[in-house]
Amino acid sequence: MTNEELWKTALGEIELSISKANFITWFKNTSIFSIKDGHVVISVPNGFAKEWLENKYDLYILRALKNIQGDIKSVSCLISTGPTTFFPQKNSEPAIDAIQAPKKSSFPPEKKLFISRENNLNPKYTFDNFVVGGSNELAKAACYAVSQNLGNVYNPLFIYGGVGLGKTHLIQSIGNEVLKSNPQLQIKYISSERFTSELVDSIKNQKIKEFKEYYQKIDLLIIDDIQFISGKEKTQEEFFHIFNYLYQLNKQIILSSDRVPKAIQILEERLRSRFEGGMIADVSKPDLETRLAILKKKATQNNIEITPDALDYIASNIKNNIRELEGALNRVLVSAQLTKKVVDLTYTKQILSDIISSGKKKGISYKHILKVVSDFYEVSLDDLIAKNRKQEVVKPRQVAMFLMRSELAFSYPGIGDKLGGRDHTTAIHACAKILQALKNDEKLNEELVHLKDLLYLLP
Ligand code: ADP
Ligand code: MG
Repeated sequence: MTNEELWKTALGEIELSISKANFITWFKNTSIFSIKDGHVVISVPNGFAKEWLENKYDLYILRALKNIQGDIKSVSCLISTGPTTFFPQKNSEPAIDAIQAPKKSSFPPEKKLFISRENNLNPKYTFDNFVVGGSNELAKAACYAVSQNLGNVYNPLFIYGGVGLGKTHLIQSIGNEVLKSNPQLQIKYISSERFTSELVDSIKNQKIKEFKEYYQKIDLLIIDDIQFISGKEKTQEEFFHIFNYLYQLNKQIILSSDRVPKAIQILEERLRSRFEGGMIADVSKPDLETRLAILKKKATQNNIEITPDALDYIASNIKNNIRELEGALNRVLVSAQLTKKVVDLTYTKQILSDIISSGKKKGISYKHILKVVSDFYEVSLDDLIAKNRKQEVVKPRQVAMFLMRSELAFSYPGIGDKLGGRDHTTAIHACAKILQALKNDEKLNEELVHLKDLLYLLP
């Protein structure tokens, strides 16, 4: 059996076990690139498909292949720009003035980037791939300076700004940069919500001493979205002690927030003055040039061929948020791959017509979250909302509630209401449950990354 036949047969089986939409979206333009010692490498058209196949469909693929050839043990994907056998390309002529990413002549094995469980850093966030412009140059300079001189220049460093403007990217870049030059240092990145929930657990399990000792050993503590400790007295108190302890030892503390310390309500005065004691820098909305530069960088990084006027169009119309900018670009890319269209201005306009319509921009909505979650877990929308206790919908439902909270800042009663009129305590429980599970459930962590990608990618 040739590789081509093997893949065709396997696809036939996979097609039966997943939804049609998912099958077409993720398996189009895939083929077997190589088989060696039981390891199958599948060629996929883009990084997005690679992530999905490796993380969500790996078991389906492996099972299907194994059923045909018993000696197959593992699969991985690599991104290929070459022709593929499945759904052959009709139009492979690149646009004349498209940005041409360098074509890979050979396929170097791709390293999969993991989020470290110890320090929580995502290796994709680096200074190298952070585009600097007027809206973020001060924050970037401060972050970089801190990474080169921990504990001594700006302590604490407080970065604030609106959603999707690069705070997490910047503060994680500090961690990754330090990790490179000083791998022996103890680094910890954590959101304040997760910090709070760990603290609560440690109190419950009488492990508060261990909790404190753990944090007191850290050399670089990065706490994201600190605004969420607003109103949480016990968390603030413990954090205050940890903060002072580390600060006195010249350990570096980095905080991010969606607003300045003054504007964080119900924040103890002594903490507020600590936050204000170091350096405060903001990230604001990027100007047109920066937006364009970000798009160009992402297009090149992802090997996307797209005409300059199409990039201009996206950059001119999506202004508020870099995550949305990325989402729009990805969306055009994925659609173009499905239809094999050249990504030019006309096509881009057509694909983005619902988010860019005469200046009006739609954000994501709770309905959108429900739809994406139900597609992703392959449960029906009705089941998701219904008041039943079917085991297979419990987790998707909790994830949906969690996303409504984290992405749309819905109130708990609001969440309960939208999910079939449930009580607000159910929503609180669901969000706590997911937060708790995220601590050691790697799969769930990855699922949430994909879900967020999808949320911002699909209409
Ligand atoms: P925030 O934490 O402020 O909500 P993120 O750091 O999560 O925002 O940024 C949202 C997305 O935009 C991320 O994928 C990030 O990599 C990207 N991004 C933000 N700013 C930049 C930038 N200046 N250059 C490149 N990518 C950026
Ligand atoms: Mg963030």
